Amino acid sequence: MSEAKLKLGDKHVYTTHSGEETIALGRELAKLLTPPRVLILHGDLGAGKTTLVKGIAAALGAAEPDEVTSPTFTLIHEYAGRAIEATNPGENLSGAVLLYHIDLYRIEDQRQLDTLGIEELVTPRSLLLIEWGEKFPSVVALSDGEIAIETLAGDERRTTVTLRADK
Ligand code: ADP
Ligand code: MG
Repeated sequence: MSEAKLKLGDKHVYTTHSGEETIALGRELAKLLTPPRVLILHGDLGAGKTTLVKGIAAALGAAEPDEVTSPTFTLIHEYAGRAIEATNPGENLSGAVLLYHIDLYRIEDQRQLDTLGIEELVTPRSLLLIEWGEKFPSVVALSDGEIAIETLAGDERRTTVTLRADK
């Protein structure tokens, strides 16, 4: 894993060589993913998107890695994390971060997407991680960053994180 520090607005690239390393990367990235944030998880089937969420959920105290499973059929999984501290004075973030792990692989059109009501999940406390979100312009418009995972040789994966700071 690269040791580079991740700054908002920058693009950062990490390489992992196993599912375990990707979970560890998710734990590191979680520190930066302060709510509210909506991220698209981009990558082929089996790239490691859900695996990365396992690490993020674990770091937030939201779920153990084994408890995080693919929302391919359930579409949305909600996990309540531990209480978070407000980063800006005057911000009211009492309560825990709400992690929403969403998978739009089986959603075929905007009409089906509308029935999910994803926009309503965006609150000051929420972190949305959306697999296959790039399929829908409305989800891209809602998002303020992307995590893209590319499969290289064997178990090697390249993960590129882009967080928009201008939200
Ligand atoms: P996706 O959600 O992108 O479809 P998953 O996270 O469900 O993918 O599955 C990724 C699979 O690839 C898991 O079985 C995982 O153990 C395996 N794997 C092998 N190497 C890696 C790696 N470097 N990063 C993430 N997953 C990996
Ligand atoms: Mg998945």
